[in-house]
Amino acid sequence: NLYNIVQDLKGNIRVYCRIRPPLNTSVQNIIDFIGSDGSLVVIDPLKPQKDGKKLFQFNRVFGPTSTQDEVFRDTQPLIRSVMDGYNVCIFAYGQTGSGKTHTMSGPPCGSANEFGICYLAINDLFELSAQRKDIIKYEIKVQMVEIYNEQVRDLLTEDSASSKYPFTFRHSAFFKLLLLLIWLKKTSSLTMDTLEIRSCVSDDSLVLPDATLRKVKSTIDVINLMKLGEVNRALGSTAINIRSSRSHSVLTVHVQGEDVTGGNILRSCLHLVDLAGSERVDKSEVSGDGLKEAQYINKSLSCLGDVITSLAQKNSHIPYRNSKLTLLLQNSLGGNAKTLMFAHVSPEGDSFGETMGTLKFAQRVS
Ligand code: ADP
Ligand code: MG
Repeated sequence: NLYNIVQDLKGNIRVYCRIRPPLNTSVQNIIDFIGSDGSLVVIDPLKPQKDGKKLFQFNRVFGPTSTQDEVFRDTQPLIRSVMDGYNVCIFAYGQTGSGKTHTMSGPPCGSANEFGICYLAINDLFELSAQRKDIIKYEIKVQMVEIYNEQVRDLLTEDSASSKYPFTFRHSAFFKLLLLLIWLKKTSSLTMDTLEIRSCVSDDSLVLPDATLRKVKSTIDVINLMKLGEVNRALGSTAINIRSSRSHSVLTVHVQGEDVTGGNILRSCLHLVDLAGSERVDKSEVSGDGLKEAQYINKSLSCLGDVITSLAQKNSHIPYRNSKLTLLLQNSLGGNAKTLMFAHVSPEGDSFGETMGTLKFAQRVS
């Protein structure tokens, strides 16, 4: 297939940039030019003259008016190659609020035309599987985990969502409050066990053998699982929004195809990764949990950058082992695997510094 040939010639790493529509139109917009060839010019709000203009080059740039459907259409061939046995990784990178979750999952409670790539991708795999049913019998299973402070947690477990609520009617209000606090603390730290990553990926064994693996047969199954994942992600934290921007969420779709005549089996997987926010640590957070989180995030994002850069440069040593994220994705980064990074950009002038950080990171890996 032509796409695969073109892809092989270009290498297996692509970078798309997506610009969110401005949320605040009263601040200056830093987007100067978007080219159909993947070029992007941003302008430093403090240096509006010519020397404030910076040019970047990507495989494609999606402007603020681009729709979920347009973005999906450009990603579809890559996603479909999973059904031919390729491992695929799609990442959303960018500062908090730049649109990563919008691209990957869509807005919370969004309507059907706002669904993100995760949903559209699995839906498309079902369609392809139905089209090919006389030739190949496919089975599709999913896992969903989050990586928070270098610990991997299962998001599809039903244990933590139903973990016992310790109230009885006999307790006084004060005692109930105390129990509630203990319960919240427990659900936030203890009930979600951390998972071991199996680093030997040469055979067909699962990389996360203990994470819940769910077979999905319809889009309804997928929607329900994603909801369970969201509930578990929220349960693991007291401040939902902060936690979700500080952990990586990884949805893995395992595909197994069996040729109906010969009995040949093909196995591959698609990882859909909503990364932690790439913003640098707030200067006020020089100690405590915030600093620890920020250090873990910086480390894992820079490890990811190092791995992708070493792959692009065809280095002999690829530093997969330096972070949980790269270890987990090892079998889908490098080799025949295909990688796509979405670099997410906020157009507002007040995020110019973070935007430059994102664009430089993305330029480095492309
Ligand atoms: P992130 O996951 O990077 O923190 P979000 O995806 O939550 O960012 O986006 C922040 C806000 O901007 C959300 O309210 C989201 O719905 C909105 N948003 C992001 N990207 C787009 C887009 N392309 N079109 C419309 N709204 C968007
Ligand atoms: Mg998000």
